[in-house]
Amino acid sequence: MTDAELRSVLQERIACVRTHVAQACSRVGRDPATVAWVAVTKTVSARVAALSYDLGLADLGESRPQELWRKAAALPQARWHLIGHLQRNKIDRTVPFTTLIHSVDSERVLLALDAFGRARDQAVSVLLQVNCSREANKGGFAPNAMLSLADKLMSLPGVTVVGLMTMAAFSENAETARPVFAELYQLREELRVRSRLELPHLSMGMSNDYVIAVEEGATLIRLGSTLFDGLTAE
Ligand SMILES: *Cc1c(COP(=O)(O)O)cnc(C)c1O
Repeated sequence: MTDAELRSVLQERIACVRTHVAQACSRVGRDPATVAWVAVTKTVSARVAALSYDLGLADLGESRPQELWRKAAALPQARWHLIGHLQRNKIDRTVPFTTLIHSVDSERVLLALDAFGRARDQAVSVLLQVNCSREANKGGFAPNAMLSLADKLMSLPGVTVVGLMTMAAFSENAETARPVFAELYQLREELRVRSRLELPHLSMGMSNDYVIAVEEGATLIRLGSTLFDGLTAE
């Protein structure tokens, strides 16, 4: 595809998501400006990522640190989000490229990020990933481990926990994700009270269930296939 063709496909898809987000917001009385989109570029090239950025998608996400380094080097003006597992030995190279790490999935990773932030005297912004769907193959903190974590969060000057992230199980019927998203919202409310952190962000909702996530309070939706399906490699 030429750049012009790519641009027109992307524009159409962006308009479609914008309409769906606006409709979901109006159903629950939210302002669409409170929902940020993270365009997940893991299946497309740096060129498609750059075109997306030009079309106004300023927040881009990658699930693998190495791929994030590569694309962020090519497109440093974008705000890059890490949405997949971060190994501790990749923290040094990843944090400097990253606006927000959505996928802090264990206390070990959280403490390692805290040490990194303290050493640099600059707190790292993170979300805690919670396994609300309770699938064995998904990472993240167990929901019932969150409240006991609350006290500890206050004593980590090297990280700023700005919210929670979750992934629903894939299903043909997006409605099955609703209780998962509602649980993350509820956990955030409880953790707020316990920790006195503000926790403004809920990262939840992907291509097949973002409308439900917006209705349930998502502030960050992570969109891959609905924007980039079929626009593979080069
Ligand atoms: C790939 C991925 C997404 C995007 O998924 P789509 O269903 O393609 O929108 C969102 N979040 C995470 C954590 C991912 O790995």
